[in-house]
Amino acid sequence: MEAGVARGGSAAEFVRLRVHAPAKGWLLPLEATPDPAFASGALGPGVTLELLDDVIRAPCAGEVAAVAGERHAVTLDCGNGAQILIHCGIDTVSLKGEPFEPLVAVGDRVETGDPLLRVDLEALVAAGKSAATPIVLVEAGGCSLSFRSDPDGLVEPGAELFELHREGARGANGDPRVENGPVATREVILPLPHGLHARPCAAIAAEARRWPAMVTLRTDGRSAAAGSTVGLMKLGATLGARVEIEARGEQAEAAVEAIAALIERGAGDEIAEPHAAPQAPGQPVILRRANPDGPTEPGLLSGVAAAPGKAIGPAYYVHRARIEVTGNAESPPAEKARLRDALSVLRARLADEDDGAGAAIASAQLAILEDEELVAVAEAKIDAGGSAAGAWQAVMQREAEALRALSDARLAERADDLLDLEQRMLRILLGRESEATAPAGAIVIASDLYPSDLKPLRAAGVAGIATVAGGPTSHLAILAASAGIPMAVAFGEPLCGVEEGELVYLDGDAGTLRHAMAREEVEELRKNLADREASYCAALATAQREARLASGERIEVFANIGSVADAEEAVRLGAEGSGLVRTEFLFLDRAEPPSEAEQAEIYAAIIESFGDRPVSIRTLDIGADKPAPYLPLAKEDNPALGVRGIRVGLRYPELLAGQMRAILRGAGGRTAHIMAPMVSSAGEFAQLRAMLDRVLAETGHAAPVRLGAMVETPASALIAGTLAREADFLSVGTNDLTQYTLAADRTNSDLARDLDALHPAVTRLVGIAAEGCRAHGRMLGICGGAAGDPLAAAVLVGLGARELSVSAARVPEIKQWLSALTLEQCRAAAEAALAAASAEEARGELGRLLGRAE
Ligand code: PEP
Ligand code: MG
Repeated sequence: MEAGVARGGSAAEFVRLRVHAPAKGWLLPLEATPDPAFASGALGPGVTLELLDDVIRAPCAGEVAAVAGERHAVTLDCGNGAQILIHCGIDTVSLKGEPFEPLVAVGDRVETGDPLLRVDLEALVAAGKSAATPIVLVEAGGCSLSFRSDPDGLVEPGAELFELHREGARGANGDPRVENGPVATREVILPLPHGLHARPCAAIAAEARRWPAMVTLRTDGRSAAAGSTVGLMKLGATLGARVEIEARGEQAEAAVEAIAALIERGAGDEIAEPHAAPQAPGQPVILRRANPDGPTEPGLLSGVAAAPGKAIGPAYYVHRARIEVTGNAESPPAEKARLRDALSVLRARLADEDDGAGAAIASAQLAILEDEELVAVAEAKIDAGGSAAGAWQAVMQREAEALRALSDARLAERADDLLDLEQRMLRILLGRESEATAPAGAIVIASDLYPSDLKPLRAAGVAGIATVAGGPTSHLAILAASAGIPMAVAFGEPLCGVEEGELVYLDGDAGTLRHAMAREEVEELRKNLADREASYCAALATAQREARLASGERIEVFANIGSVADAEEAVRLGAEGSGLVRTEFLFLDRAEPPSEAEQAEIYAAIIESFGDRPVSIRTLDIGADKPAPYLPLAKEDNPALGVRGIRVGLRYPELLAGQMRAILRGAGGRTAHIMAPMVSSAGEFAQLRAMLDRVLAETGHAAPVRLGAMVETPASALIAGTLAREADFLSVGTNDLTQYTLAADRTNSDLARDLDALHPAVTRLVGIAAEGCRAHGRMLGICGGAAGDPLAAAVLVGLGARELSVSAARVPEIKQWLSALTLEQCRAAAEAALAAASAEEARGELGRLLGRAE
């Protein structure tokens, strides 16, 4: 070949290097090059560019290794021994350098986009030569090459052509050492409540880059290189998704295991509460309007509920004009410095966010800014002549578009984070720092808002937010909920018919907005709001009182908790103990089980928070759908019907005995309440009791211990009498009892409507369990979600429950509700529910009976 190639090696080492278009032109696959030497790949892999520019720029940073004697080709040493040849035109050696002007010399150090060679295209074409310019990896050195997209079509200078990977750093297509190297795969079920969003993606990408293997994540027919944060976000994986991790090449197995363990630990996020209802894997969130058929009343607009609460106030339009970038760029180094400076400013602002949910969301946005890939692409655009602002805008808009194009509502919401970061950076870069603002008490109407708009709106004291677009689980919605600002989204264009200044009523629970109201209507709604507020304040004011029915019977209202922080919050809201401490959080997010000492310390802190009030600690409720990496539980086709709950504990007796010892230590001299999940036979309970007896004998623990069983299956409800003979107490888990009675998977969002604990079959089973407890003088508690549902709570008390354990937030209201009911009313409610033909009928009848419309 005519270009003399010097042996390089002084260029910087790299792990991954993007190679960009050196000029504007039509991109063709190398095979289409009108020269058999290039087309056959004999000179190395690469692409060909039909030149449309007369300046050839450096496709990547490197050192000029050679300039052909006939000035028509330049070779760059890019590091790791890799060399790229840019050969301007075909058979141009015969032109004896005539139309070419080299702009660099051997040994020059160049950055991406620096001019290398000027070519007189007209002269080249006039000489009958093809302007096809192969860009090939003539020396692979320790590198391999991968294409990121099909080489086809018109490209601008700086467009990405391919990527080089340092051998052993990340593999690539076509590299035999990767392709023929070991392959390891493993599937994980995503335990992240918010799916693969920016923060966990950044953690996974960082882990993937540590390994020499090429790691890919796949889910639901999509795949992404594990080293790219934004690529992983674009997978759109949601809670419960099956994600396949594949690694190829050196240390493939170790890489897969490390990434799987990281994901199972939550990748820096909280992992989902055990058995929390996930979205069905791979299913997009469908934005459902509160009223799908549109408004049925004049003046009532239907959107989607996004943050709870209701408010009345004057409508106020917030227009957030998007900044569009125009203007020229300075030199690439100056623009790159501006970009880096602005990034530092924005990162510092995000890192400063220390306000609860705001901090969590800021850290997710920070993770996006830390994606090297975004910054590298922006820098390449600057190298190709763009300004910092223009390059940043182009990159962020492209990524946001890619997320939106997945037509997944949740991902579309994450696209707002990218656009928020785009606009915030532009405000910094262009010195246009302005904040969204509105008068105190206003209901903000906007086409869409970004997460960063919430802070100033909150500071201004707005009463509510309604948007034309947006989604209910967007970061803006999460921030609004945590700030207590009612919000509804996705109203569509009809929202723009609201007049600025008119009084509107926003219902963040129903996702509706009422406008064009008559004065009487406004007054009535205002009165309702004031009543609601007063009722909540009254419930809170009396929340510390002992819970009793109006007829005087004592009913204990407890809280279900999962951590020390939950315990403290529960006590603040008046919980009289805890009927369910879910201990799974201690066991699931780690590679090894927690030590007894670690468990004991946490149990002690939880028990301590409740003072003298009773605390039932549930032994670990894990199973095949919530795998603990250190337990060799087999993958099951039907995990809900598999080895879970007490079945796991009895198969791993040391784990369970260890937990019992830790609970006893945590309780110290207080009465320890130990409760086992998913007990379905007397034999299981007998084994449990024998294990506890052994532990007590070994430890010499002398303080009182009560051992209870959860009633979560029809089997255990039907044999509750037998269980109650042996157990010190029983507690009905209505969530699982409903799922197993109705054969309706509680994790399947499609069945959510059918999963009503007021289904008469469930009510009858609870009645049988209550009867079993009564026969043996045992206390019946309820710790499933039904206990926090006012109508169901009345029924449960009527059936015989004397302890209701509800989520902490519901404690004040349930206490207040019970204090207004007599035992007679509760018994009548139970009778009505038992006699109903369906859950709907039960609800209708109970509403009438108890004077409570739901
Ligand atoms: C239940 O099943 O009702 C229960 C309280 O347990 P969990 O929700 O943790 O399965
Ligand atoms: Mg359960």
